[in-house]
Amino acid sequence: MNERLEKLLSQSLPLDAISYKKRIELLQESSLLQENLPEEIACLDPRTQDKVLYSLKRQNRPHDPEPALSSSQDIDCPICLGKTTEVWDKAPLTKGYTFTNSNLYPIVYPFLAPAWSEMTESQPKAYGTHLLQWHSTEHDKDFHNMPFSDVVVCMERLAALEKYLLTQPGPAREEKEGYYGYIWVAKNYGRTSGSSLNHGHLQIIHSNAMPSSLERDKAFFQKEKKGFSDLLQEKANQNLVIQAYRKQSVLLLTPFCLKRMLECTICFRDTTKNYLHSLNRDEIQGLSQALKDAISALDVLMNKLHKELSYNLLFHIGEIGGLYIEILPYTQQMGGFEHLGAYTCLLTAQESTNQYHKINF
Ligand SMILES: [Zn+2]
Repeated sequence: MNERLEKLLSQSLPLDAISYKKRIELLQESSLLQENLPEEIACLDPRTQDKVLYSLKRQNRPHDPEPALSSSQDIDCPICLGKTTEVWDKAPLTKGYTFTNSNLYPIVYPFLAPAWSEMTESQPKAYGTHLLQWHSTEHDKDFHNMPFSDVVVCMERLAALEKYLLTQPGPAREEKEGYYGYIWVAKNYGRTSGSSLNHGHLQIIHSNAMPSSLERDKAFFQKEKKGFSDLLQEKANQNLVIQAYRKQSVLLLTPFCLKRMLECTICFRDTTKNYLHSLNRDEIQGLSQALKDAISALDVLMNKLHKELSYNLLFHIGEIGGLYIEILPYTQQMGGFEHLGAYTCLLTAQESTNQYHKINF
């Protein structure tokens, strides 16, 4: 391991050893971060409630050279070289560590607000903390090629971080008793899915603003008196279940309304669980196995389509009637009709499920 990265890791304290408030104060003192702040003003599309954030500095982000490298010998990777921010959390893996630190190019504004006000049309400001979980200090390790036990550690640390950010009184408003602000978690893998660095990572934002898809989840739950996860599981019945884990407590299934070939979703049988830190040990293990299986299968299936592995993970977390995780492979491009909201999908939900069934998990 690079000396600089080793030093960052050895200097870090356990996550809970420093309060969230204190960590935000420390962020304010980081001159490295000060140079790369986003614009303080954001925008809200009143038709969709989509949030638009502006960051001119992100144009300066380091990118992996074309074509995308997948080698373990990426000599220019800033993470492998330790050219990154202080470590908030770390845990040992079978080889090396997984660790979390703050994004050097945050998309939400981390400073100047002792209390984050609500993001509204008249006051469109997105405040928050933007963090990254680097799955491994090993450059080429990611969910599909890590040992299962290492994926479990990554999910356990993500759940611990989620709890840390949501349940400590800080600048975010109390949204429900003992819970402050909103959590966004997503992953981009592959250049076509928006990843700028190959070194495997998840993005985590804790903010005063709620992405519009989570607002739609919440509105659906309030209107239908059941969450979207419940509906997905009902409609999947047995036919669209790709694989069940841990006595059926975790399901990998095809959404009945898939928009792109090979899309799949991870749901939990117990839809009272809205947060990763509410999951029990069995459910965390089921989630980890489902992630590893789905992405390993996608690697094979996308290869058959003569495409490189490329996908987004979207974690739907909050008061939505059941946590769920969407796995969206980049199997088809977005055309004009898709942007209008009319999708042409090249496989039916059943045929897409059958593709996964041909793979031996
Ligand atoms: Zn690297």
